Amino acid sequence: MMYQTMALPLSTVKGVGPALEKRLHQRDIRTLGDLLLHLPKDYIDDRQLSPIAQLCDGVSARIQGRILTKEARGYGKKRQVIILLADDSGRIRLNFFHSGYMMSDARLSEGREIAVRGVAERWQGQWQMTHPEWCVSEAFQPGYQPVYRALAGLSGKRIATLIRQALTLLPVAASSPLDAVLAATASPLRQALRELHQPHDLDSEALNRAAVRLKCEELILYLQLMREKKRQADCPAVSLQAETSSRLMHQSLPFELTDAQASAWSDISTDLNSGKRMHRLLQGDVGAGKTWVAALAMIKAAGCGYQAALLAPTEVLAKQHAETLQALFAPLGFTIKLLTGSTRAKERRELLAELGSGELKLIVGTHALLSEDVVFNHLALALVDEQHRFGVRQRWGLADKKRDGHQAVHLLGMTATPIPRTLALALYGDMDLSIMRGMPPGRKPVETRVIASDKMKSLIAGMQRILDAEGRIYWIVPRIDEDEDGLSVDQRVELLKRYFPDANVLGLHGRMKSGDKNGALEAFTTGVCKMLVSTTVVEVGVNVPEARLIVIEEAESYGLAQLHQLRGRVGRSSEQGYCMLIAGDAASEGSRTRLNQMVNTHDGLELAEADLALRGSGDAVGTRQHGDAGFRLLNMAEDATLIRYWFENLPDFDPGEEMQRFWRPFAESTD
Ligand code: ADP
Ligand code: MG
Repeated sequence: MMYQTMALPLSTVKGVGPALEKRLHQRDIRTLGDLLLHLPKDYIDDRQLSPIAQLCDGVSARIQGRILTKEARGYGKKRQVIILLADDSGRIRLNFFHSGYMMSDARLSEGREIAVRGVAERWQGQWQMTHPEWCVSEAFQPGYQPVYRALAGLSGKRIATLIRQALTLLPVAASSPLDAVLAATASPLRQALRELHQPHDLDSEALNRAAVRLKCEELILYLQLMREKKRQADCPAVSLQAETSSRLMHQSLPFELTDAQASAWSDISTDLNSGKRMHRLLQGDVGAGKTWVAALAMIKAAGCGYQAALLAPTEVLAKQHAETLQALFAPLGFTIKLLTGSTRAKERRELLAELGSGELKLIVGTHALLSEDVVFNHLALALVDEQHRFGVRQRWGLADKKRDGHQAVHLLGMTATPIPRTLALALYGDMDLSIMRGMPPGRKPVETRVIASDKMKSLIAGMQRILDAEGRIYWIVPRIDEDEDGLSVDQRVELLKRYFPDANVLGLHGRMKSGDKNGALEAFTTGVCKMLVSTTVVEVGVNVPEARLIVIEEAESYGLAQLHQLRGRVGRSSEQGYCMLIAGDAASEGSRTRLNQMVNTHDGLELAEADLALRGSGDAVGTRQHGDAGFRLLNMAEDATLIRYWFENLPDFDPGEEMQRFWRPFAESTD
């Protein structure tokens, strides 16, 4: 079976030792299958050799020739090595700086044939390439070469070698449980994976089909799990009839509920009183005030003598909720406590005892709440914030924690991911939907601009003005790892420190130790740090009202809904907020048009729908390999048609344990 092989540890791949395995683990690559899901970001057409005489200035090409001379300039390891290469049509000079070791490489002796790929440049009337890739001619295989993103400190080339190895480990007969189901329309999973990593053809049709085949694994499994859960949902729930406490709560709120909040609360309290299990999704734009609606529900549960638990996707967010809610609940005489992966053992023991006895009524925490030894006395309400960050199972994990003999737990999910109406049924068909539109009074729309990456100078000046006015700045980069493009967290921190030595620039990403993460966020919240360079971890709910500007690099690589979430980190006070979207050099005309939607539209749902309309068949495979809404590959905007289709035509099949475990991001999320 395919998924048995996919579950093999990384150490089965040739070239992966314990140290490397550990590094890859930290990037959530644990199995052979995880590695195979690291899809190429691009492909190079390496089918044809170019004669040297036909090179074009500034264009990358593959050439093959004989080494005429090899010489070194300078001394020691830092020597520059210059190779003169010739084919029948002409000559080219190859420069390798700091590459003294090449002098003793026999494969590069004079007279040997090598194949070289690099960008050709015309310099002083001669052709030259600097640091081209090379191999001996016999080793060169014409075809399409996948290009991978660097990962966990490994270059794209190392990754390519590992993936090539991994592919050889898939037995020819390995099949997915879905191969038979999809046999009429699509190729087997194994073949689709090969096609994506080692394409026969760069025809985008073939690549698209392979990508779709891969996505079907995640999608059909998801839909099936969801349907199964829906079937289990119909059992009577505890009824929460007492009104006094929530009236109290209304009085203690620091402001009037907006109309949208009031209407959502009315849906929810009707559910809670109905005696049937609530299973509702509260969708509201970033900053719409979902937390307060959730707080009302929690107070109502506690006021009736029951317990309520709030699940948050990250420690940072859980901690923030604990603080805000405690301030709100304390005057009412209720206590809320925090449980996360870093809660100390002793404190955790006490906390679990209080939950078990029912002494503690309200708790907020991360996935640590789902742990089996967390047992409630009489849980009546489970809330899941940013529920798209959790898997189907986890979403239900809390609500399934009822004690034998007790009735079913109410479940309230919350999300700021705007789900276009047409998709809501397919993706969350197992839930009722309350939509909150509009914002609390007094907010100004965030002023948004799309800028080119060469406009750094004026951007830096603008940033200085924000800092001078006591504002704080988020700077979002697309990845944690260093890549040739310099867009990693550390690389940006270094650069920005040089421009803003007094801002105490700090970095934040999901793979940092939780203490460091909290430390960085704390420093930014309190203003010790004025500029936070981060990956999209800040996308989730973080609230720092003094943040006035968010800069997003390589903005075209995100969906509009996600950009909108990120933009929601600023403009959280009455001060004007700004959002600068930097379009990468490689951004296509189409993706620039897409980004321009952000300038004029400030409504999340409208943006999600625009994304849906603008994309569909748009971007090339591999440019966006991460899904959203908690999916590993699926993307709401790109795959809308696919999602709707399989929702209507869901086949019956048995996924088996391994397949379910493999697609863990929607079966289990980790902070
Ligand atoms: P989200 O929906 O993104 O979770 P929050 O619940 O964090 O939004 O609320 C965002 C901000 O709006 C908070 O600072 C909160 O205090 C404020 N807020 C919420 N509801 C109201 C209201 N009815 N009037 C004024 N401010 C509000
Ligand atoms: Mg929130």
